[in-house]
Amino acid sequence: MAFEGLTERLQKAMRNLRGKGKVSESDLRATMREIRLALLEADVNFGVVRKFVKKVQERAKGADVLEGLNPAQQIVKIVDEELTKMMGETAVPLNKSDKIPTVIMMAGLQGAGKTTTAGKLALKLKDEQKARPLLIAADIYRPAAIDQLQQVGAQVEVPVFSMGTDVDPREIVEKGMAQAKEDHNDYVIIDTAGRLQIDEKLMDELKDIQEMVHPDEILLVVDAMTGQNAVETAEGFNDALDITGVVLTKLDGDTRGGAALSIRAVTDKPIKFVGQGEKLTDLDVFHPDRMASRILGMGDILSLIEKTQKDYDQKQAEEMAEKMRENTFDFNDFLDQMKQIQKMGPLEDIMKMIPGMANNPALKNVNMDPKDIAHIEAVIYSMTAQERENPDILNPSRRRRIARGSARPIQEVNRMIKQFNSMKKMMNKMSNGNMAGMENMMNS
Ligand code: GDP
Repeated sequence: MAFEGLTERLQKAMRNLRGKGKVSESDLRATMREIRLALLEADVNFGVVRKFVKKVQERAKGADVLEGLNPAQQIVKIVDEELTKMMGETAVPLNKSDKIPTVIMMAGLQGAGKTTTAGKLALKLKDEQKARPLLIAADIYRPAAIDQLQQVGAQVEVPVFSMGTDVDPREIVEKGMAQAKEDHNDYVIIDTAGRLQIDEKLMDELKDIQEMVHPDEILLVVDAMTGQNAVETAEGFNDALDITGVVLTKLDGDTRGGAALSIRAVTDKPIKFVGQGEKLTDLDVFHPDRMASRILGMGDILSLIEKTQKDYDQKQAEEMAEKMRENTFDFNDFLDQMKQIQKMGPLEDIMKMIPGMANNPALKNVNMDPKDIAHIEAVIYSMTAQERENPDILNPSRRRRIARGSARPIQEVNRMIKQFNSMKKMMNKMSNGNMAGMENMMNS
């Protein structure tokens, strides 16, 4: 999981302040030293770390934190805000041209995820804006890049313009643009050539394409897993091209966080999207504030809500919320909930977005594969209607009977009831507006 080490270390650094009515200068210094080390270890750019620590220290002092009532909380807040600033403060939308088509050029090293991201972006534009994009296959060097783009295009049902590998990419782009005009495509996404490393020939080719089509957006795709190398790559491309935004891929891997935290500060170009998986739907708008909360282990409640809204049956969700408020959530609802969650993706990913849950060891056991859902169903169907509606009556003898009836081990029945209870508790908390991750973090 991304940022795991960083989150743990930052939390540890700030935990030392917890419960202190007053924070002495030396406490603050010690905390800042820990934060500095945590960031460096996460491969954040050295200069960026230095500036960050200086800023937090200044603000912590300036805000009379040392005399404050709950200094630890104030410092967490400052760290959260400064992390957010470091990543650019607010989400930056994709540029759009007044004229048709809007031209998006993708650039990046081989393997960064350029071709995949081109497809993801086409799908996003199609889904969210009802756009009619055209993909142009101008990577003639990487074996199979054109085939790959064609496959991706077929999956998202977006046309791909290609002329094979024996034509100069400049010509491909020129003809592709003419095709887009003819077909009235409102977006053109150009997949350009990558290289193993930055070289002059590549840059010249990209510069020529830039001059030819004047893209509204030049998105640099970098692999978050490569840490400071990603930052150096970004600097290199940024020097040669008029980069307008960055896409950070593979944030679903166990990246340490260096790239996410440094790229904006080093290149002054916004991260516009993050890739969080290999599926073509795994592309999300980058929100610096949410990312900061996620890094601090305070969850990513807004993304969760957004995800929920997209994948969730709204009416059912409202009914559920009502039940949570009234605390009448029962096993029938639990079963519905499980099915909904299954639609949304791995439960572990979803739970991690909930404040206070990011580092919850209980998560390690939460595993929702379809088989588990079937087992849960079997267990719940072995309950009487009365038991389903009043889970409190599930005493050991009833549990044994249910285990026999569902042919599941008694431990599993117990575990599921426990899961149900903690879900109910959590939902009740959330429905009562207790989303203050910070509170959670400082008081847990
Ligand atoms: P390109 O050479 O830059 O065009 O890179 P590709 O688009 O071929 O991607 C290289 C590999 O990274 C492929 O296996 C992709 O499936 C994978 N990939 C791309 N983006 C992501 C992402 O956000 N998460 C994960 N886990 N894999 C990704």
